[in-house]
Amino acid sequence: MITAEIVAVGTELLMGQILNTNAQFIAQRLASAGVNHFFQTVVGDNPARLTQTLSLALSRADVVIVTGGLGPTGDDLTKETAAALFNKPLQYDEESLSTLKARFEKMGREMTPNNLKQAMFPRGSIILKNDNGTAPGCILEENGKAIVLLPGPPREMQPIFEEQVLPYITQKDGGTLYSRVIRIFGVGESAVEYRLKELIERQTNPTVAPYALTGEVTLRVTARCKDATEGEALVAPILEIIQTTIGDAVYSTNNEALHEVCGKLLIGNKMTLSVAESCTGGLIASTIVSMPGSSAFFTEGVVTYANIAKQNRLNVKEETLLKYGAVSRETALEMAEGMRVSSGSDIALSVTGIAGPNGGTEEKPVGLVYIGLADQKGAEAYEFRLSGNRERIRQIASLNALDILRRRLKE
Ligand code: AMP
Ligand code: MG
Repeated sequence: MITAEIVAVGTELLMGQILNTNAQFIAQRLASAGVNHFFQTVVGDNPARLTQTLSLALSRADVVIVTGGLGPTGDDLTKETAAALFNKPLQYDEESLSTLKARFEKMGREMTPNNLKQAMFPRGSIILKNDNGTAPGCILEENGKAIVLLPGPPREMQPIFEEQVLPYITQKDGGTLYSRVIRIFGVGESAVEYRLKELIERQTNPTVAPYALTGEVTLRVTARCKDATEGEALVAPILEIIQTTIGDAVYSTNNEALHEVCGKLLIGNKMTLSVAESCTGGLIASTIVSMPGSSAFFTEGVVTYANIAKQNRLNVKEETLLKYGAVSRETALEMAEGMRVSSGSDIALSVTGIAGPNGGTEEKPVGLVYIGLADQKGAEAYEFRLSGNRERIRQIASLNALDILRRRLKE
């Protein structure tokens, strides 16, 4: 098993002017890939001390990951220092040079000569393309050991690390990474972490890492393995534990979004869908339509915002609106049923709620949302009390509507 080590270069880090978030990011990714790493160092922009740091790191690690000091300015000395340590002269890389020139041309900025060194690399290095900045990274190899040089800015460093360095490291380790993303709706992040505490903390291969998206929780299960078949075999029992522990709130083990899962179920059941939206204002329809091939099951969506629209378009009774209000279980039921009948679809969803920040009362506070579903068997409606700003309430309402649909389709 290989060992990695992290070196962050920059006097600004030593002085405490910026926080070493690069080390944190890389450390987390190494941990979730199951790569050993025992030391992290911060060193200033000083060639002698950097040489010392790199030598020490190379004496105890197989792969030394260095960030910072790849820019065009005088204090950026990482490449020169690493090249000297490995005794390899710097040479131009033609492809990087033309990319660099094109980049400056596109930005309409003059390229000063000091920029040219960003296209120079130690002889024989593997070049790491940088789509988000001017300084590419590189990997220098010698005697089975490697130094990986990455640009300092996190938004440049992170995608290079994720897409080019991590695969390099796992391959060097005689393996590959296999990962599955589990998506969960209806159970909060802390509840997921609590229920899976043991698994998240004890597991080393595969690792289980939770992270939250708006309104939902995802778990990335990553196995270090020799090939995908072995990866699948390692991950399968973990997926099973997650599914039995979390239950049917797990809606995908393949990183599909809720609307994609619903779309597949509708296609599988040969059913059509329409939606009538009030507070979500077309968000559900738009989400569904973002899925290629949605025309196979989605017939129409209407935004009935005013009471009169709910009456005219969906046949909601004036009496219902007067008696129970536009945001009520009764209105949601009539909206869904009216939508189903007028569209001729097999299933109709409806949403009506108070997205805020104004319009709430004690009886009907901001965040109160009713979601209706109508099919051949009849109509039903569900009440939600959501929190957050207008945008979040609309988003969570639309996710809930899709989840209600998913659960119905699975019955
Ligand atoms: P450099 O490549 O050393 O010139 O760094 C360019 C910029 O990247 C710095 O000004 C910082 O904003 C950022 N940066 C460099 N190193 C780190 C680090 N370890 N963590 C977070 N940001 C960094
Ligand atoms: Mg610097």
